[in-house]
Amino acid sequence: MKRIALILISTSAILSSQTKRPGYTDTPMLPGGKWVVHDSRRPTPPIVTPGAKPGDPPSDAIVLFDGTNLNSWNGFLKGQNVPAGWKVQDGYVEVDPAAGSIQTKENFGDIQLHLEWASPSVVKGSDQLRGNSGIEIMGRYEVQVLDSYENPTYADGQAGAIYGQVPPMVNAVRKPGEWQTYDLVFEAPRWQGAVLTKPARLTLFHNGVLLQNAQEWIGQVAHRAIKQYEPHASELPLRLQNHGDLVRYRNIWVRRLTPYENR
Ligand code: MG
Repeated sequence: MKRIALILISTSAILSSQTKRPGYTDTPMLPGGKWVVHDSRRPTPPIVTPGAKPGDPPSDAIVLFDGTNLNSWNGFLKGQNVPAGWKVQDGYVEVDPAAGSIQTKENFGDIQLHLEWASPSVVKGSDQLRGNSGIEIMGRYEVQVLDSYENPTYADGQAGAIYGQVPPMVNAVRKPGEWQTYDLVFEAPRWQGAVLTKPARLTLFHNGVLLQNAQEWIGQVAHRAIKQYEPHASELPLRLQNHGDLVRYRNIWVRRLTPYENR
């Protein structure tokens, strides 16, 4: 009997919180004609539980790599999906130069992405041949990963560059071998048929420092060239580049950027 009463109370509490939300209905109409300012009837955002500490995945994140396995990934070699061959150990995954790139089994469009990377602690090579990898979003839009610590190279090829197009605002790189974070928001391009209606866009924080602020891509990634946009699916795999250097990754998660209804 007690239990039934409790259920009744909690149901009515939910109902009243839905119907009697604080707010107003007599305030000016917002642009769009749907909701007034502080509208008490407007749906409230879904609850997401943040990670325990900065960098931990929140409750609605899709964890792509938690340090244990590459179950969410395929290898990508010569344009084909193959089993993911990069080495997983001690909570990180390291590029295997002989095993191609890796890309997610799941497809993504607009995302928030967190990942951590480290360039090799033993420095070999220079310029673009030193700690080079990359986040190839949708397999086409590369956010450069490079050991940019006292490593002269062209500006649009540094760590955090939109490769071949836009240098990062600053160089916020850590020393070789140290773990560093990328937190980014990527907006996929939009098409109407074959016509581009909105370019791809990137906001990127490197070790908490803003490198790219809603920066637009001029087209797909290219080396010593400019490539135009080419129409593609609205969601595609997220790829980590094999550039022959022993770059490490850990703690990789994404969130899909889907606004809730009536936001
Ligand atoms: Mg690269």
